[in-house]
Amino acid sequence: PPQTEPLAVIDAHDLPYLNAKLPIKKRVDDLLARMTLAEKVGQMTQAERNALKSRSDIASYALGSLLSGGGSVPTPNTPAAWAAMVDNFQRSAQATRLQIPLIYGVDAVHGHNNVVGATILPHNIGIGASRDPELSRRTGEVTATEVRATGIPWDFAPCLCVVRDDRWGRAYEGFGEDPALVTSLATVVTGMQGKADGSQLKNKDRVLASAKHYAGDGGTTYGTATTGGYKIDQGVTQVTREELERLHLAPFKTALALGVGTVMPSFSSVSIDGGTPLKMHGHDELINGVLKDRMGFKGFVISDWAAIDQLPGDYVSDIRTSINAGLDMIMVPARYQEFTAGLTAEVTAGRVPLSRVDDAVRRILGEKFKLGLFEQPYSDPAQLSTVGSAKHRAVGREAAAKSQVLLKNEGNLLPLAPSSKVYVAGSNADDLGNQLGGWSITWQGRSGATTTGTTVLAGIKQVAPSATFSADASAPLTGHDVGVVVVGERPYAEGVGDVGNGHDLLLADADKAAVDKVCGAMKCVVLIVSGRPQVVTDQLGKINALVASWLPGTEGAGVADVLFGKKPFSGRLPVSWPRTEAQQPLNVGDASYDPQYPYGWGLTTQAAARQKLTEARNTLLRKHDPYALAAAVAAEVALQTKDWSGSKVPVALAALEQSARFLDRSKADGYAEGDAVVAAARWIAQNKIGQNLTEPVSKLTADAEHLALTGQLGAAVAKLTTAYKTK
Ligand code: BGC
Repeated sequence: PPQTEPLAVIDAHDLPYLNAKLPIKKRVDDLLARMTLAEKVGQMTQAERNALKSRSDIASYALGSLLSGGGSVPTPNTPAAWAAMVDNFQRSAQATRLQIPLIYGVDAVHGHNNVVGATILPHNIGIGASRDPELSRRTGEVTATEVRATGIPWDFAPCLCVVRDDRWGRAYEGFGEDPALVTSLATVVTGMQGKADGSQLKNKDRVLASAKHYAGDGGTTYGTATTGGYKIDQGVTQVTREELERLHLAPFKTALALGVGTVMPSFSSVSIDGGTPLKMHGHDELINGVLKDRMGFKGFVISDWAAIDQLPGDYVSDIRTSINAGLDMIMVPARYQEFTAGLTAEVTAGRVPLSRVDDAVRRILGEKFKLGLFEQPYSDPAQLSTVGSAKHRAVGREAAAKSQVLLKNEGNLLPLAPSSKVYVAGSNADDLGNQLGGWSITWQGRSGATTTGTTVLAGIKQVAPSATFSADASAPLTGHDVGVVVVGERPYAEGVGDVGNGHDLLLADADKAAVDKVCGAMKCVVLIVSGRPQVVTDQLGKINALVASWLPGTEGAGVADVLFGKKPFSGRLPVSWPRTEAQQPLNVGDASYDPQYPYGWGLTTQAAARQKLTEARNTLLRKHDPYALAAAVAAEVALQTKDWSGSKVPVALAALEQSARFLDRSKADGYAEGDAVVAAARWIAQNKIGQNLTEPVSKLTADAEHLALTGQLGAAVAKLTTAYKTK
């Protein structure tokens, strides 16, 4: 219940909890001992800033947290206005009795995506395609720096969903279908938070992360309906216990090891081993039992948006069930009056133990102390210039380039020569909003120039200024060397992605028409700007080169970088690419796996393959691991095979495959190098050469492998090179 009269602000200067030199545990103990039940309950309450009936409610209800839900932006929507807004709310919290700072949260899921002028990075599916944990970490830093600059210390990201069905409207929020891939990219948590012990959270370039949505959000069963007969988002994840652990819990374990400060449960339910589906927001076993007790999570659990309202029973029972299941803070987001009253009554009646409340508040305060909010609750104006800075946009451009997946490259059409006469068409060629996707300025995202950035067309024009453009391909089609048709999805968020383009994975009719026209008239490259694969089976025959561009963000120039060969194509499919929509759910390892392009597919160009292979060899040589060294040897053999297009191709291919095999066995963290080798091998395979590997070659590589493994590297090299030369 609201405090009836304002509590006097205490002069807290000498109190232990305000002494930054004391250990956090001591500060939490001291502060908790001073708090009333109302103040504790307030800490567990997160309201949406638009839902506040009055600013004074922050003090009256002792609110611990506010958020801006998607699209809840200040006017004008500028970085400075954000900072002013958040600081103002913070001032209200500073005027309360104990001066406990608010922790403000926002969904910055690909950069500070609500703010006009911020750097908007590729959505996670593109980072998944890059397969680059270090890049993922750096994108986390960019996001954290820009978010914190606006006075916001907490980000509801990353989504660690393992996307098992691309019809899910949140497929693009995930890194991909393979838990190992998702886990490897959880490094974004480090980029956001810094060191795992939380000691860097108080820095100006860090924010508290939130691993979401725990657990199984990417595995809900298609067609499991609660309403309307068509529900995948917020549905039921039907798994065996083994699948739950292997597919859905694995990335969270890693995020916890990286020190993630908060975890958000999923709207969805879980049915384990055919049992009754249970809502994650009331899942005592998976939250208290697995997350907190078994995995040892020490941060706090924040609910999803009004998600407890979906639990069976009335609101008071929802409160009781969720808090007792281990939720620490509830995103109410509007029902803060009912929530605080309800929780207080439940505690008073003994149905929610006070010890549970104390535990929740300890966890929340612990993170607030780590963030340094008691010392510095306000934004730092000097940091505002980082928002959308050239330095950050360069990371966005790099990420866009690294996320491009070359699916087909008939006759080596790509890379394009900058001097070529390029005809650009398609609905997504010159639409910034479309290449940002959902969660961009508004919750659902919107077509058009919603913020500052470079469209794919603008990027192309920077390299090839004479490029001609007509979105619907209604300009003269003659006189060009090559067409670039950019098609795909219109923005959407959550649900089944049924805004604009239908909930299916099929290209819109206008997009198909543009492909037909351009590809019928000239050699063409088709770029698919979308949050998930689009079925192109019927068009594929006419398309010479095909690129999955995902949702590249504000830096469309990164796409042009790979199109014109300024940077290599290095992305690989983070999800399987289907032939038909009916194939979904389609995942590598399925019994009858027949995708258009398999998980991990991604071509490169010869020059790029050589460059990557050289880098790989150099890195491998520095490793003190026999397998890595053996892989380096094989890589060297491949590089010495100067001509990868003639009779020597089998030699190079064998060496590359050998190298990849060594890497597979390597205990060292040689995955990135392995990728390079595989990419190079693919380039050769794609050119339909070198497929007639003969027995002797396999035998020789096996011998060389044996020599290399027994430490006789010189002999291994000799064996490989002489043998291959004679071939
Ligand atoms: C989404 C969450 C998000 C929350 C707050 C919900 O609809 O499921 O991912 O963090 O809104 O905006």
